[in-house]
Amino acid sequence: MQTPAPVEYERAASVDDAIALLERHGPEARLIAGGHSLLPMMKLRLARPDVLIDINDLAEELAYVRIDGDDLCIGAMTRHRELLESPVAGEHYRILHDAERVIADPVVRNRGTVGGSICQADPSEDLSAVFATLGARAVIRSSSGTRVVAMDDFHLGAYTTAVGPAEILLEVRVPIRTGCGSAYEKVERRAGDWAVVAVGALVCLDGDRITDAGVGLAAVGAEHFRSPAAEEILRGAEPSEATFDAAAVAASADCDPQSDQRGPADYKRHLAGELTRRALRRATARARGQEG
Ligand SMILES: Cc1cc2nc3c(=O)[nH]c(=O)nc-3n(C[C@H](O)[C@H](O)[C@H](O)COP(=O)(O)OP(=O)(O)OC[C@H]3O[C@@H](n4cnc5c(N)ncnc54)[C@H](O)[C@@H]3O)c2cc1C
Repeated sequence: MQTPAPVEYERAASVDDAIALLERHGPEARLIAGGHSLLPMMKLRLARPDVLIDINDLAEELAYVRIDGDDLCIGAMTRHRELLESPVAGEHYRILHDAERVIADPVVRNRGTVGGSICQADPSEDLSAVFATLGARAVIRSSSGTRVVAMDDFHLGAYTTAVGPAEILLEVRVPIRTGCGSAYEKVERRAGDWAVVAVGALVCLDGDRITDAGVGLAAVGAEHFRSPAAEEILRGAEPSEATFDAAAVAASADCDPQSDQRGPADYKRHLAGELTRRALRRATARARGQEG
């Protein structure tokens, strides 16, 4: 099926207007941002909303990458390309640029948004793994106010998030830390493809001790896109090859990959371990200022 079912179309003029339209049209209404995930699903009739509420006019309100207090804030309508080109994003978290460089192709990156990506919650979504690595929080608004949700509580399962039917994601907030490095490693079958496996790492150092760490996993069925066991091993340990090996084994064990056209489950589990090792090495080198 290559043609979406008939659908009504509304264009929101502001965040409050988008929420009012969601409330007026009920649970069969859907927000549309870049449309790169929702439209293909509508064409395949995997999604069949009655009403589309276009939020592209909210770009002025919701497209930004900026510092607010102790957080790096990324607006929901920020396009992939804007995040890729943001100096402030790269200055604080190199993982954001690592990941954006390998998400899809320039056509998709010009239009697809950060908010659409994490609200889609595809199990292979790169930014979901990145924000899980960084311990980010999502800011969600409804007519009754704004709430802030940790990434672990945001991703409820495949294609399911904490964003309710009459709510909109406003931004993602990442705590800014000092003495940290971050990196993203992805294996794909060809340039621009979804991940076979991808791993994000955050390493914060105080001398020769890891004070804080994050390990995010995409496309391997890890709960909340994270490996809590690997993070536990890293915290308080020396950033050595032995530590990275132990974390890699733990990350593999936290995966539950499926065999599919991208490879057998055993291969993906092995790859998750190897990419964990590589991402931790690079994140550590960056924390030490050894990699530009
Ligand atoms: C060919 C191709 C290759 C791709 N490759 C990759 C890849 O390698 N890695 C990767 O991670 N992604 C990949 N993607 C997905 C791409 O990143 C999409 O752009 C992204 O997933 C969705 O963003 P969007 O703005 O287009 O969202 P849309 O399609 O507009 O929306 C997706 C969902 O999010 C909801 N939504 C959107 N914005 C909000 C908001 N502010 N608040 C609440 N709900 C909202 C919508 O209602 C919908 O349910 C690929 C896509 C394509 C078409």
